[in-house]
Amino acid sequence: MTDMKTILVTGGAGFIGSNFVRMMVKKYPKYTIINIDALTYAGNIENLSGVDASTNYLFVKADIRDRNVVEQLFKTKNIDMVVNFAAESHVDRSIEEPEVFLNTNIIGAQVLLDVAKKYWKINLADKYCKAYRPGVKFLQVSTDEVYGALGTTGKFVETMPLLPNSPYSASKASADLIVRAYHETYGLPVNVTRCSNNYGPYQFPEKLIPLMINNCLRGKDLPVYGDGLQIRDWLHVSDHCQAIDIVLHNGKKGEVYNIGGNNEKSNIEIVKLIIKTLRKSEDLIRHVKDRPGHDRRYAIDNSKITTELGWEPAYTFEQGMEEVIQWYMDNHQWFENVISGDYIKYYSKMY
Ligand code: NAD
Repeated sequence: MTDMKTILVTGGAGFIGSNFVRMMVKKYPKYTIINIDALTYAGNIENLSGVDASTNYLFVKADIRDRNVVEQLFKTKNIDMVVNFAAESHVDRSIEEPEVFLNTNIIGAQVLLDVAKKYWKINLADKYCKAYRPGVKFLQVSTDEVYGALGTTGKFVETMPLLPNSPYSASKASADLIVRAYHETYGLPVNVTRCSNNYGPYQFPEKLIPLMINNCLRGKDLPVYGDGLQIRDWLHVSDHCQAIDIVLHNGKKGEVYNIGGNNEKSNIEIVKLIIKTLRKSEDLIRHVKDRPGHDRRYAIDNSKITTELGWEPAYTFEQGMEEVIQWYMDNHQWFENVISGDYIKYYSKMY
């Protein structure tokens, strides 16, 4: 029966979620992938073009906080696994409007956990089901930002305390702790993955890499926060999706896994790489007022997932960036469609 699972993916119309859905639908033709997404400004059904015709894929437009919809899915679809991507994900927006972050990222996760727990218990109590369906596994997709900021040395390890600095990272850290509580208190099989910054196709152009590629292609200013020396670890989204798949199937219950690419880069280095690749001028760079509470450096120690589960990133940063820049050039219509009136309003407010 292991080749016939039903996976509930939340936030599957966003950047990472859509890449994950695309991968899973193809990789596991006998699985059913159900994507529940509220289609906020960041959700884009176009990210799933081609996937929607797959017979093992179902889209449900709904909010993860809507317990009735979530219950109905569990009741009627025999969900085996939940992968929770759904979130408000942009730090700048969380500084402007923290409430929606707390609501979706914390309450949303709690609703999913609660329903998952209910059906996990029902499955366990049912001998027939117990034989064939080992219950519900819950994977929370989290971020390295929950650890706070690092100095010039050292890396985040899974045992470090959570010291989030932005409303976004605080909401993600809260969800991580609630996931942990559902494991410790009720025994629900869970994993938390904490990944570094992703780049890849279908990323909303408010995030650094697509924003800079888009502006650079249009000859527009490239707004860089402060001195641009903030350091992040970068991972290609397809490497992240592979890692999630491995944790989902093989992760030890209750464990947290860091996921990172060993690619520490400063923001300014990335901007200059994009400028060079697109053969534009560095005169486009415009330093703007830094984000309040901007963490200076993140770096991930990924030795737990590499040694315990055998995952390793396939992409080098240089190869990944080359492909991704080409993807955005080839898909400029996708950019055009994404840049809605709302985004333009937001963009002119921020920069
Ligand atoms: P995204 O903003 O591109 O996508 C989020 C998706 O969630 C959108 O499709 C949106 O419509 C949906 N959504 C938002 N609120 C919802 C709600 N209440 N109910 C249902 N759907 C809702 O985000 P992303 O960059 O793809 O990130 C996905 C997850 O991965 C997030 O949980 C984020 O915290 C985490 N993460 C992201 C990165 C990164 O670099 N992008 C790194 C580490 C972890």
